[in-house]
Amino acid sequence: MANGMKRTALTAAWVVGHADGQHCLYRNGTVVVEGEKVLYVGHDFDGEVAETIDFGEAVIGPGFIDLDALADLDTTVLGYDNHPPELKGRVWPESYMRAGPREMYSPEELAFQKRYAFTRLIRNGITTALPIASLFYRAWGETAEEFDAAVDAAADLGLRVYLGPAYRSGNLVVNAERQIGFHYDEARGFQGLADAEAFITRHEDTHGGLIRTMLTPDRIETCTPDLLARSGAAARAHDVPIRLHCCQSRLEYDLVLQQHGKSPLELLRDTAFFAPATILPHGLFLSGVNGITHDAPDHDILCQSGAALVHCPLVMARGGKVMQSFPRFRDLGVTIGMGTDTHPADMIQNMALGVMTARIAEGNATCVSAADFYNAATLGGAEALNRPDLGRLVAGAAADLNVIRLENPDIGQRIDPIQTLLLNGSGRDVSDVMIAGRFVMRDGIIPGVDEGEYHRRAQAQFDGMVAQYPDRTLFHPPVEEIFPTSYPLG
Ligand SMILES: [Zn+2]
Repeated sequence: MANGMKRTALTAAWVVGHADGQHCLYRNGTVVVEGEKVLYVGHDFDGEVAETIDFGEAVIGPGFIDLDALADLDTTVLGYDNHPPELKGRVWPESYMRAGPREMYSPEELAFQKRYAFTRLIRNGITTALPIASLFYRAWGETAEEFDAAVDAAADLGLRVYLGPAYRSGNLVVNAERQIGFHYDEARGFQGLADAEAFITRHEDTHGGLIRTMLTPDRIETCTPDLLARSGAAARAHDVPIRLHCCQSRLEYDLVLQQHGKSPLELLRDTAFFAPATILPHGLFLSGVNGITHDAPDHDILCQSGAALVHCPLVMARGGKVMQSFPRFRDLGVTIGMGTDTHPADMIQNMALGVMTARIAEGNATCVSAADFYNAATLGGAEALNRPDLGRLVAGAAADLNVIRLENPDIGQRIDPIQTLLLNGSGRDVSDVMIAGRFVMRDGIIPGVDEGEYHRRAQAQFDGMVAQYPDRTLFHPPVEEIFPTSYPLG
């Protein structure tokens, strides 16, 4: 063990500790880390320490848990102003499907994409990540081989992860009449699950527990009922979390209803999909909310299932959608964790938008607090994963923490750091990150990573991918037509 059992004391103007089942604040507090764990949090540690690091005007808090953590280059930018998806390469044309979809990144690019994205997560104070990436540019699902490389990247950078290649049995396609339909290949879905199970066997609980695994069937509408049933059974057999995009879009809700005569959550219930750690992004479209008039006991099923929702307010608000609503799910006792799901992987921005969109959804300002969202980004994620050792700084918990600076004048005034953080903070204020007792970022520097070089390489890789868009865009228009600039080029 790199640290041995050396004790390090970390001090700052504010420390977010944990007592009596909730976070608490220590003014001029101390966190003592021993090996991979927290030994003490409070004001007066009287034992010996090998080293004391004082962060001054800063808050030391539990690292953020990102249940839908972007492990990709930023593809949101391609869909920001460019609609509709079926004319902009986000639904495969039948011609491309028939010709045989192909990988648009090389294995090296897929490995770099994840390593690069992991550094962005660390940069933003995320200490536990459940990666997510787009499948648009893939031949089909993700591969176990690229996830072997992701294991190496996470272990090397020191990021705590739950990894599993995404698999699916179906894909949306659009024909020349612009009708959207489905292509299914059930055998391919089963093979994806088998590969994902082999990946679990190879990597579960390795690298001192830093690397955990999970099952990630892609989206409910891209999985057949049999694949859902087998996936749920596999999650229970391997005792790993299972994540499925569900209740994410109107199109999804309508498609599932059309194909199976039941709502998405009814389909999960009837296929016995639910496992002890079921994680569902994004919880937007349920019976009676966001324009769904179909009558189904969606909220009851969700409550009884014990599944956790993943709330990603930034990416959803970019698409004009809000959860209806965070306080309603909270009051029903549903576990809610947070996800970034897009670039930037800024959990602080997500928490801030979470407050705003919840208040807009409910039409009142008292329905949620800053603490509700700080809880979701820490304790909610831990609960979703059944990990009481994560998401809190208390004796015996994992030493996963972030340090957020309060000395930049942009941060404004404060009565406490949490409200100020959500009002004026950003991921750029995160200066230091520790995971399992190891500094994975120190004073803004991620050891061994040249962020400028990563930034240039990511853009070059992104340009190469965008150049391939005409191939899989309906009617194959040139790139300039698919993705016009905001203003004409002069
Ligand atoms: Zn998502």
